[in-house]
Amino acid sequence: MNWDALQAPFEHAVVAPEGDLGECIFFAFQGDLLLVSKERHDHGGILPRVRSFDEIGMPFREPHYLGSRSGVHSFTVDLEDDAKPPADMALHGLRMLYGVLDETTFQLAGRAFQIVNWDRTHHFCGRCGTAADYHKSDRARQCPRCGLLSFPRVSPAVITLIHRGDEFVLARNGRFPKGRYSIIAGFVEAGETLEEGVAREIREEIGIEVTDITFDAGTLTYRYIPPTSQTNWGKGTTSSMIALLRVKDGTMTGTLSGLSDGETSYDYALTGERTSS
Ligand SMILES: [Zn+2]
Repeated sequence: MNWDALQAPFEHAVVAPEGDLGECIFFAFQGDLLLVSKERHDHGGILPRVRSFDEIGMPFREPHYLGSRSGVHSFTVDLEDDAKPPADMALHGLRMLYGVLDETTFQLAGRAFQIVNWDRTHHFCGRCGTAADYHKSDRARQCPRCGLLSFPRVSPAVITLIHRGDEFVLARNGRFPKGRYSIIAGFVEAGETLEEGVAREIREEIGIEVTDITFDAGTLTYRYIPPTSQTNWGKGTTSSMIALLRVKDGTMTGTLSGLSDGETSYDYALTGERTSS
């Protein structure tokens, strides 16, 4: 994609315009992996940009239109499970592509994945089991027998920064890949307020009670840089780790300690950089 096009807002839509759309960008998923080129194209992007996805040579299911930016149209497609990428392309998880795709494209990839995932799981009516049709104008499937509409599921989630003065908490889930830490996040349960969700997740994840839950309208992203690549993050049976970090002048320093291991104590220096604000 060209970089000027990235500056324009993406115009979301459900139904593709008629006629020749020219070269389109495709968000193609196999499972939760996105198809990207190994090298950046001349137009700066790594997503397939072709007139028709047939040119890629990987079998795919129903494409879904996403919208356009500066006249460049985007679609998402679900690849067949056994489809092999061409030699100059590869499949990567979205998290690995964070910082590789520009931010707008990364967000769109997340949206595209949710649409593909919804499509995979709503072939049949959830009420009567009849094969569901696509709605003509909305992002929905509709049962031709009982009329039930199924929209892509939105799952409210909360993420929270727990701080004490200029220190804050990072935790590590035992399922995380090596080297990954996160502030606390989780899905909101049915009937729960967002604040109740925050308090419950924190209680469940790290066993502390919090007060003064407030919304932060800004967005802050911190990238954590392990001190050395040899550091054995998450060694042993640790299911949860916690860090207290200090933020000053946009950089972080602090120590990281294993909590629920019970045997080994971890204590690592951490540094970080503020990546956006
Ligand atoms: Zn039905």
